[in-house]
Amino acid sequence: MSKRTRILLIYTGGTIGMVKEYQTGTLKPFNFDKLVEQIPELGQLDCAIHSVSFKHPLDSSNMNPTHWIHIAEIIEKHYEEYDGFVVLHGSDTMSYTSSALSYMLENLGKPVIFTGSQLPIGDLRTDAKENLITSIQIAGMQKGNRPLICEVCLYFEHNLYRANRTTKVNAEHFEAFTSPNYPPLAESGVHIKVNEEDLWEPVRRRRKFVAHKILDDRVAIFKLFPGFNEQLLQGILRISDLQAVILETYGAGNAPTEKWFIDELSAAKKRGLHIVNVTQCSGGAVSMGRYETSEALRRLQIINGSDITTEGAITKLMYMLGREISSASFKTVFETSIRGEMS
Ligand code: ASP
Repeated sequence: MSKRTRILLIYTGGTIGMVKEYQTGTLKPFNFDKLVEQIPELGQLDCAIHSVSFKHPLDSSNMNPTHWIHIAEIIEKHYEEYDGFVVLHGSDTMSYTSSALSYMLENLGKPVIFTGSQLPIGDLRTDAKENLITSIQIAGMQKGNRPLICEVCLYFEHNLYRANRTTKVNAEHFEAFTSPNYPPLAESGVHIKVNEEDLWEPVRRRRKFVAHKILDDRVAIFKLFPGFNEQLLQGILRISDLQAVILETYGAGNAPTEKWFIDELSAAKKRGLHIVNVTQCSGGAVSMGRYETSEALRRLQIINGSDITTEGAITKLMYMLGREISSASFKTVFETSIRGEMS
């Protein structure tokens, strides 16, 4: 990492910067300056680190698209000044926020690394220091005087992932995230090994970086379970003004074949609702038509979510609706990988 490398830390909240409230023992976010005080090791890194903090740091369960837009604004405002960005964020909704940012930041020519921790930074056995320090080192990696990584990533417990491929799978283990359908972009051991062939295509330098800041939250997720009834499905699909819904289906995109179910989907489609088929399985992809139980969905022209995660899909919908993608091209655009979120 060269001396000139400049990194901006964006602190949004999360366990990494929380303290235990004395009386109740609950964890609450605290001031960012205190966080930096806890890690004098940052001074040893061979780069200039500056920081900005959310005025009111949040537990990530309180994050919503307004906060995602705020993160995009911070990156946009400081884009030219820094070589890389590290976003400190609670792990609970980190995959959602980082997936959203991956779409919002178009033609990104620098790394944006999300990280957090399972234990607060002051804790004796904390995972926060390694996560933060390695994220900063990765954000500062250069190749031929240019940033090596030009995409939104998530670093946790020795693995760097493409953010929009991740999902939180464990509430206790330090290894809290997986990327079931895409290999890690880098692994950190004695050395940090970057798998360059798996990185997102380097930005085409002539294209200008753009931060898109309109998201449309008129979306829903309906997770199928054996026994769901018509009333429940109608309750979701007939929400007034709903624009798009994710159907979390079984296995390779399968669903019941009952007439009332197919009729309800067909009517919703006719009303203009965008319906995406995403599998409940954490690994593998939707393949409509492979089984009889997904043939009707294929015939209805339901959007194929392939191997996208639910986090990647719901945020992609918000982004695409915000960009006002026309109904005629919505299916094609969704089924095309725009930031490496699907295979
Ligand atoms: N509840 C915390 C949050 O998401 C958990 C964490 O930071 O890991 O903000």
